[in-house]
Amino acid sequence: MEFQLEKLIRSTIKQLVPYSSARDEFSGSANIFLDANENSYGSVGSNENHRYPDPYQTELKKKISQLKNTAVETIFVGNGSDEAIDLLYRIFCEPGKDNALIMPPTYGMYAVSAAINDVEIIEVPLSKGFSIDVDAVLENANSQTKLIWICSPNNPSANLLNIKDITSIIEQFEGLVVIDEAYIDFSGASSWIDLLKKYPNLVVLQTFSKAWGLANLRVGTAYASPEIIGLMNRVKPPYNVNGMTQKLVCKAIDSQNEYKEKLNELIKQREILISNLHQIAVVSAIYPSNANFILVKTLAPKEIYNYLLSKNIVVRDRSKLPLCEGCLRITVGTQAENQKLIQALKEY
Ligand SMILES: *Cc1c(COP(=O)(O)O)cnc(C)c1O
Repeated sequence: MEFQLEKLIRSTIKQLVPYSSARDEFSGSANIFLDANENSYGSVGSNENHRYPDPYQTELKKKISQLKNTAVETIFVGNGSDEAIDLLYRIFCEPGKDNALIMPPTYGMYAVSAAINDVEIIEVPLSKGFSIDVDAVLENANSQTKLIWICSPNNPSANLLNIKDITSIIEQFEGLVVIDEAYIDFSGASSWIDLLKKYPNLVVLQTFSKAWGLANLRVGTAYASPEIIGLMNRVKPPYNVNGMTQKLVCKAIDSQNEYKEKLNELIKQREILISNLHQIAVVSAIYPSNANFILVKTLAPKEIYNYLLSKNIVVRDRSKLPLCEGCLRITVGTQAENQKLIQALKEY
């Protein structure tokens, strides 16, 4: 079947004449900038913040392009992945008419962002072992389904989803398949970015919030065909990523060794934490983790959650989610933090 992007785009977006910023209209070199109503006298309380940032994050995208081995035209940089999630709804889903499909238990923002945009959500729960029920997904998607969200490794279950299952969906669904790889760095798996040329209906999300340790800066990325990225650039707020952030993320990408050291240490501590959790009586199951967190089944989630709080340790109670009965989600901490957690659980 031939994929037709044109058919998926909301007519409002097709007709949109995007805002043209001062930096859109002039990007050459000059000495005197009197085009953007900036403050020529400088910044109050800090240096070098009086100019608007590059709206297309050119320097940063060059670095990301090398890092991910994909063309600059296939990269969108946003104010966290959450911005990309919201933009995809606004570009492709007609409010009150179109829908998107999610597979609970999964990341909460897909449904929240849908609700904000008045987009219906179709839920097809993961099956036992947190794997995709491909037949149910394809049966439940209908002619108004524009987006299918796949989170791999999945939050909160921490597992990578099956490559064949994902491939079946990409190859049989006529809308866009969005694969959220927020935790891919911790998994050792290769990214779906490598298959963008093969699949024009694929969008991959990644973030600098997790493995890169830059959650405070709010930088998420989307990777897709140049046509889809072009649409995202047209709809995004002109200066969606600030200049300090662009600079700091460039610096991070230049610090490959530090990135790898932190990643290796985290993975090592994850394995130690898992083996220590096996010694805890109230933990009844530990799910395999390809991420920087672990989903554990306990006999009394609420009580254990509150007990840990009383010890100044906060974890996430996920026991109300489908397939997550009794479950707490625990982020891998530093070695010392993990030891305190284990000690507290032993004393419970
Ligand atoms: C943490 C997380 C993100 C990252 O969101 P940002 O807005 O980039 O910080 C994206 N997707 C999932 C599934 C996550 O858990």
